[in-house]
Amino acid sequence: LFSCLILTSCSFGDAGSTTNIPSGNDGKNCNRVGVFLPDRTTSDRWEHNDHPLLEAAINKAIPGVSIDYHNANGDSDAQITQTTTGMVNGDCILVVAAHDSIAAEPIVVQAKAHNIPVIAYDRLIQSKDVNYYVSFNNTRVGVLQAQYIVDHYQEYKTAGNHVHMAIISGSQTDTNALLFSIGAHSILDPLLATNELTTVNEVFTPDWSNTTAQTEMEAVLADNKNDIQVVYVANDGMAGSVITALESANLAGKVLVTGQDATVGGLRNILQGKQSMTVYKPIAKEAQSVGDLVKALHDGTDVKGLTRGSTTPTYNGGLIPSILDDPISVNAQNIKQTVIKDGYVSKSVLCANLP
Ligand code: BGC
Repeated sequence: LFSCLILTSCSFGDAGSTTNIPSGNDGKNCNRVGVFLPDRTTSDRWEHNDHPLLEAAINKAIPGVSIDYHNANGDSDAQITQTTTGMVNGDCILVVAAHDSIAAEPIVVQAKAHNIPVIAYDRLIQSKDVNYYVSFNNTRVGVLQAQYIVDHYQEYKTAGNHVHMAIISGSQTDTNALLFSIGAHSILDPLLATNELTTVNEVFTPDWSNTTAQTEMEAVLADNKNDIQVVYVANDGMAGSVITALESANLAGKVLVTGQDATVGGLRNILQGKQSMTVYKPIAKEAQSVGDLVKALHDGTDVKGLTRGSTTPTYNGGLIPSILDDPISVNAQNIKQTVIKDGYVSKSVLCANLP
């Protein structure tokens, strides 16, 4: 007797249904690792650095592993579909750089229900059930950016003896953007209290959109009749847009501009005197930490010896074992001893067509 009722226990490969997800056995003997990155446009790092470095580190960690790689292209729903489909197809460890730190929570819930460990990569996912967090000391990133401003703002003092600063932060839905901002304020606020330096405008930039950053900067210049001496910008992608706006106002090179990621574009702007500094985060180390974790999970060995940097708290009370490394402040003076020495970028790429 054939009845459709029997079909309720069958699997039709519906990616939306969690019942079709095989158990990840806490990553033991896992030979299919899902890697999920957030976008391609807010920073060159994701496709240029993280993607190849993660693939290399994971391939080395588990010989013969298959890597299920996806980029969410700036879409939180797409990232959920990508991870669900990945788990249905057998991903047994997930490495997720969340497009949105809160919207990504269901990924963790679903993975946990099937004993699939989740490594929050670079950006923390706001769920107490994240298994591991691999990133940098992100508050320190903001500290380094702000410290550069504190050390150099006086060189930008106007004849009227003032220094006006605009603050262009990243996306409020990225936990990192909040940490960068907290770190920066911890250093800037005492100076702001003395009125030696004045903030004329402070914004967060939805989705870290480089295009929006340019519009934001154009508005700041218009509102202040171009009387701006310092721009705190959270990363190199947005700094490039800010510099475009400054160029239109004939101000490029005359304004202190910060950044982050040591991208080729950012470093070239530094060499041309249009950007003042960037923050280099050795992504090779970050990817290697993922390789080490993935190997320990696969082999079923203790990961305790791998954690460093601190245990990271989430909004909702979880404490996540973490591997956090230190960011490095880079300016024209130390490009050679940092990013070039590390092989993060080559001199020939950096200097192509520059005087
Ligand atoms: C990363 C930065 C990056 C930004 C925009 C942050 O979460 O830590 O390195 O510039 O996202 O993609």
